[in-house]
Amino acid sequence: MTSVLYDAIGELVTCDRAVGDGSPLGLLHDAAVVIEDGRVAWLGRSGDAPATDDRVELGGRCVIPGFVDSHTHLVFAGQRSAEFAARMAGEPYAAGGIRTTVAATRTATDSELRTLLDARVAETRRQGTTTLEIKSGYGLRVEDEIRLLRLAREVTDETTFLGAHVVPEEYRHDPESYVGLVAGEMLEACAPHARWIDVFVEDGAFDADAARVILEAGRRHDLGLRVHANQLGPGPGVQLACELGAASADHCTHLTDHDVAAMSDSGTVATLVPGAEFSTRSPYADGRRLLDAGVTVALASDCNPGTSFTSSLPFVIALAVRECGLTPAEAVWSATAGGATALRRHDVGRITVGAHGHLTVLDAPDHVHLAYRPGVPLASVLAG
Ligand SMILES: [Zn+2]
Repeated sequence: MTSVLYDAIGELVTCDRAVGDGSPLGLLHDAAVVIEDGRVAWLGRSGDAPATDDRVELGGRCVIPGFVDSHTHLVFAGQRSAEFAARMAGEPYAAGGIRTTVAATRTATDSELRTLLDARVAETRRQGTTTLEIKSGYGLRVEDEIRLLRLAREVTDETTFLGAHVVPEEYRHDPESYVGLVAGEMLEACAPHARWIDVFVEDGAFDADAARVILEAGRRHDLGLRVHANQLGPGPGVQLACELGAASADHCTHLTDHDVAAMSDSGTVATLVPGAEFSTRSPYADGRRLLDAGVTVALASDCNPGTSFTSSLPFVIALAVRECGLTPAEAVWSATAGGATALRRHDVGRITVGAHGHLTVLDAPDHVHLAYRPGVPLASVLAG
């Protein structure tokens, strides 16, 4: 057994309202945390800490739970900077750009994809992320979707089968057959490598009927449900997610009052990805409206080469505060405990006894600095 005392923490964000100031962030000041064999063994006032094997002095800096990025597309080859530049020059975004990345990913070897994935995971850790969900969805053939999920499984347990990302080129004139493949043979082959199933419900991607067939098939294979919903316009995605008991509806940019009420009633988490709105120059999701209605809000990067090529939760937090109406405290909660809730995890995203010892340190005295100092590399993984 090895125990380490992280001491002289200026502000400790536990995301446990039972401790400290009683707020959702559960703030403790002049605090310390003991990690023993990878788990949180003790937390409290600096000076009250038990004896440990090692001690790390934090010099008054802020410590938060490692970020939980509950929505990423990290396994892919190629990049689409020309598409981004065109969009910034005034061309609109349509869902079909995904096919460009599919073509590049299919021709990449496992070793090439693994190298790219490992570099991206390292990039997230340099910015304070300790838990990642990773989707497939750039293979869109049975053997390629399995390949992407296997590679994702090498770096996380939170893998999501997204065969229903877009209808691939070869099925363009027969999308119904592709839905049959995704809900049948492809799901059968991919389910052992996935914890979740997701569908991109949008004009140009999949409609509600197709999504229902695929999600219900996923549930029969014991996969949890997630939905890309209401990104580019109003649509049926959020209602479907809530009706089927999905853990999370992601994007939630264009919502009716009915959609907001459905999320509030169902407990489906609204995962906001303002990096996508930034990168597509689109209107931002109204996080304030969701929070005021009692909806649980998570923040994620949606890291992907087309519409949100950022892996930075600090950037996402700053955007959510500036553009989605979240307070700095709400944004930090949503990028940690909120992401964990979107993955139905209680052992990450919070610093509580027994949880994974995933600590992120800020080169700052408090959590507000994440939004207050946008673009400054304050966050990094301390433990976990
Ligand atoms: Zn996405």
